[in-house]
Amino acid sequence: MPATIAALSTPSGLGGIAIIRLSGPQAHSIVKQVFRPWPARPDFFHLYLGYICDPDSLQKLDQVLLTIMPSGRSYTGEAMAEIHCHGGVYNSKKILSLLFALGADAAPAGEFTKRAYLNGRLDLTQAEAVSSLIAAESEAGLVAATAQLAGGLSTFISEMLTPINQLLATLEVEIDLLAEEGLNYSCTNMIGPLGKLEKQCQNLLDSYQRGRILQTGIKVVLAGRPNVGKSSLLNALLAEDRALVSAISGTTRDVVSAPLEIAGIKVELSDTAGLDLPQGELEALGMVRAERCLEEAGLILLVFDQSRTLNDFDDELYDKIKGKPHLLLLNKHDLEPVFTVAELQERFSYKGPVLRCVGAREQIDIGEVIDALTIFIKSRIAVLTDSVMISQQRHFDLLSRVSEDLGRALALVAESAPLLDMLAEELHQARFHLLEIIGQEQEASEGLLGVVFSQFCVGK
Ligand code: GDP
Repeated sequence: MPATIAALSTPSGLGGIAIIRLSGPQAHSIVKQVFRPWPARPDFFHLYLGYICDPDSLQKLDQVLLTIMPSGRSYTGEAMAEIHCHGGVYNSKKILSLLFALGADAAPAGEFTKRAYLNGRLDLTQAEAVSSLIAAESEAGLVAATAQLAGGLSTFISEMLTPINQLLATLEVEIDLLAEEGLNYSCTNMIGPLGKLEKQCQNLLDSYQRGRILQTGIKVVLAGRPNVGKSSLLNALLAEDRALVSAISGTTRDVVSAPLEIAGIKVELSDTAGLDLPQGELEALGMVRAERCLEEAGLILLVFDQSRTLNDFDDELYDKIKGKPHLLLLNKHDLEPVFTVAELQERFSYKGPVLRCVGAREQIDIGEVIDALTIFIKSRIAVLTDSVMISQQRHFDLLSRVSEDLGRALALVAESAPLLDMLAEELHQARFHLLEIIGQEQEASEGLLGVVFSQFCVGK
């Protein structure tokens, strides 16, 4: 019999309300001992106003709302209870310790959702979507997680499994017949369905970068020589004084990052130390960090001061970043330019747009930058809104294996006398990896479940 678990499901700290959840066979009998007045015939999903009382001293601890849910119709699939008590660290801890004293166990992280999965209330991709939904930091992240929670990915995977199961069934029959009759079998009629499956798999793999951007956002990094106005631009884009701005070269030494939302997508905007000849140890360290930050960037905004001549450091910097998505920004557009846009483009053989802006506090003009960021982000996520996508590394890794399995299967069926046993083995592998994605493979090990559910917080 599984243990009955209890945990605080809302964040620990001060708040109007805190919710304590119980799940397991003893959930109802435990709350019955502490909730007063216990209703004569309690209804499920009904909110009861009452008190949590110490069952020995009958001392009232808190006025709360209680609801109970039956097994089979709750989040975890088990009997559950939720106590909505007043928020407050001490208060919720006291109620929890009462529940523990009556036999409930402290729930490990993710245990509620793990039970929901084990009891068939959610499949594995949906359970993962719960985690993404909680972590979502932008409109797009929320939409992507909600679609996955609704079962979009699971349905897509199940639909891929149907033709694989059919092909496997055909193969099993043929293998038996041919073994009896000693004949060769042509599999050319399998090329069509296998090719279609491989294409579906590839489309889903291609959606990964897009899915990641939707769910986790995009990293945009401001780079350039010292004093070109990177910190000023960061502040202007955030509409707050986040980074220190000064005419003194080398003011920004560490990477300064802050989130903002553009086109519904979370953008992590980072200001880096100016890349130039370092004046001291700290500046040199700052530049190492800046370069690391550039490596992780989804988009680099390379900033120039149009009132200062370009030099070798600009060339070096451009060489470093040219392999990554980037845009050039001419800052200090309010000052007299010492080079033209055409000269800048020619110097770096750059064919993209050169954005003009003013980052100085008193006369901010960053409209072109915002527009260009919006266009860039939209181009990265451009997709039919109803199409299924993946955003998790685990799904990407398993689908890559499915794609390899299907690729080998396709190579086999193209042969005049394919080895049917090998073909069946490849299809079994593809099937296994697809089932692993939705967590329905019976052999899905505890290890895999451990990895998935350890990413949850306690109480979920
Ligand atoms: P960073 O070293 O690249 O981060 O540059 P800062 O943002 O610290 O700016 C360096 C100096 O340039 C500061 O004195 C800013 O006020 C000034 N500055 C920044 N942007 C502009 C601009 O668009 N126009 C003018 N005139 N000055 C600017």
